[in-house]
Amino acid sequence: MGRILAFVNQKGGVGKTTSAVNLAAALQKAGKRVLLCDFDPQANATSGLGVEKSAAAHSTYELVIDGFPAADAVIHTPYCDVLASNVALSGAGVELVGMDAREYALKHALEPLRAQYDYIFIDCPPSLELLTLNALCAADQVLIPVQCEYLALEGLSKLLNTIRKVKGGLNPGLDIEGFLLTMYMRNRLNNQVVSEVREHFGPLAYDTIIQRNIRLGEAPSHGKPVMLYDAGAVGSENYLALAREFLKRNRKRSK
Ligand code: ADP
Ligand code: MG
Repeated sequence: MGRILAFVNQKGGVGKTTSAVNLAAALQKAGKRVLLCDFDPQANATSGLGVEKSAAAHSTYELVIDGFPAADAVIHTPYCDVLASNVALSGAGVELVGMDAREYALKHALEPLRAQYDYIFIDCPPSLELLTLNALCAADQVLIPVQCEYLALEGLSKLLNTIRKVKGGLNPGLDIEGFLLTMYMRNRLNNQVVSEVREHFGPLAYDTIIQRNIRLGEAPSHGKPVMLYDAGAVGSENYLALAREFLKRNRKRSK
C-alpha cells in the first residue's frame, strides 16, 4: 500500500513545491510509482510539471467539493502522475466549512488511489487553514521544508502544535517523516540554522541539505523537474541524494 505524504509549512517560499516536484520526479526515476496531488490554489506544482492549468479537465477542487473520482482526474506526465490544481481551489476552504466531514474530503478522494502508487505527495498552500488541515488528515506523514534563514525555527512551533493536535484527534496515525533544510548557502548564518535544526530535531532532520541553486528556480518555467532540465546542476544532485536518503529511511521504517 502506498504512503501519503504532505509537504507542509505555513510559510510561503520555503521550498514546499520545489521539494514535492523534485523528490517526486527523483523517486519515479528510481522506479517508484508517484502521484503528486497539487493542493495549492497557486498550482505551482501543476505548472512545474508542465501541465497547463487550463488543460486539466478535472482539478483537486472537484475532488473535494464535487466528489469527482480522483482516479479519473489523474494526469500522466513523463515525471510522475499529477492531480492538477487551479485557482478554483482557493474557494474550497470556505465551501468545505458547510460540508459534513469537511476535514476528511481530501482523504476520501485519495484513499482509493493508495494501492496504485508507492507514494502520494500532497503539495500544501502556505497556511494552516482548512486545505492544509485536509492534507494533514489525509496524510500518513508530514515532510517539512525549512528555509535556511534567520528565525527559521520560529514559525515551526505553531506548525508542530497543529500537527500534535491533529494527531491527538482527527488523524492519530500522523507522523513526521522529516525536516528538510532548503536554500542553503555557505555562510555563518545558514550554518547556524543547520545546527539549530539538527539540535532540535535530531535524526528527523535529513542529512541531505538542499543548496540554493539558480537551476531550481529556472526549471519550473520550463515545466520540468530540475534533473530533466539540467542533470548536472547542484539542485539535481541534491534532490537525487534526498531521494536515496528518503528510500533508505523508508526501508528501515518498514522493517
Ligand atoms: P513554497 O512552495 O514553499 O511556497 P517554492 O518551492 O515555490 O516554495 O519556492 C519558492 C521560490 O524559490 C520558487 O521560485 C522556487 O523556484 C525557488 N526555490 C526553491 N528552492 C530553491 C533553491 N534551493 N534554490 C533556488 N531557488 C529555489
Ligand atoms: Mg508552493
